[in-house]
Amino acid sequence: MGDLSALIEKLTAGERLTEAEFRELLVGRDDATAKALAEKAVEVRKSIYGDAVFTRGLIEIGNICRNDCYYCGIRRSNANCERYRLTDEEILSCADEGYELGFRTFVLQGGEDGYDTDERMCGLLRELKRRHPDCALTLSLGERSRESYQALFDAGADRYLLRHETADRTHYGRLHPPELSFDNRMQCLRDLREIGYQVGCGFMVGSPFQTEAELAKDLLFVQEFRPDMCGIGPFIPHRDTPFRGESAGSVELTCFLLSVIRLVYPPVLLPATTALGTLHPRGRELGILAGANVVMPNLSPVSVRKKYELYDNKICTGEEAAECRGCLARRMESIGYRLTVDRGDIRKGER
Ligand code: SAH
Repeated sequence: MGDLSALIEKLTAGERLTEAEFRELLVGRDDATAKALAEKAVEVRKSIYGDAVFTRGLIEIGNICRNDCYYCGIRRSNANCERYRLTDEEILSCADEGYELGFRTFVLQGGEDGYDTDERMCGLLRELKRRHPDCALTLSLGERSRESYQALFDAGADRYLLRHETADRTHYGRLHPPELSFDNRMQCLRDLREIGYQVGCGFMVGSPFQTEAELAKDLLFVQEFRPDMCGIGPFIPHRDTPFRGESAGSVELTCFLLSVIRLVYPPVLLPATTALGTLHPRGRELGILAGANVVMPNLSPVSVRKKYELYDNKICTGEEAAECRGCLARRMESIGYRLTVDRGDIRKGER
């Protein structure tokens, strides 16, 4: 491990690393480093969260999107994507079903669809809160104005997931069309935080043009921003996007980064993502063993599951919500963890 043990020590001691040090850690990593970091990550996570793995019920409310991100299967230009939009009634009944199954957090995720006005979303949020006042509501609906974020917050949204995608401006420009701006994405994250949301950022691992240099910037950003949640998963190409011929990210590197991020900000809520589970049959288990502590089973109606295809071969598109939950519960039990049913708020200052 050589020099890297000093960096591992620093991370474990809660000291900050420089961008150059993060890069050194990434470039120099090997199996022994990964193992050492995972051990430390699991230890620090256990000291805060025990053996609990939080679940969030994911409801994919629609795949109509005005954006044309080069990596994403539901991008505007994909004419092969069969578009759908769930009605309020469908979303509410997904949540009702999820509630019965024990979920106390719902994530409403979708493309950026002009139909999801503040009026629509605020009405929906209020009704969800009325039916399930003990639940945390999370939105993942992309970039909106500060006023809009404020209105949604006032209507009951507690958390917002908006991956920054990459903390490097040039890299951002290579993953997105010119009309999307790095500055606006970052501004959205700051707005969300100021309004009072629990905020999630995140990035894809192995996205095209990404090297250790870009990842080091992502880690530095996470270290500075201290997000409440951080969604990271491997990039997986989608056949109908400009990145169709690119290779997928690696399970190994994703797990390594999960461990580093856990150590960079110990209380962070860190999902073992569906993308990780798509690349490896036990990807989500590996993610938890590397330091993640959240899973997000799908509650969307089975009839639309396949249509919310951000990348090829996405898993969990055929099962009913109850089956998904049962499957994940068993997977977690197989590695000595248990799914918890509470809201799973971040536990800051409990190290
Ligand atoms: N429209 C929302 C939700 C986007 S989908 C938003 O803008 O935040 C959620 C995440 O899926 C994205 O932030 C992106 O990081 C990830 N994603 C999209 N395409 C992907 C791909 N091909 N491989 C892996 N992850 C992908």
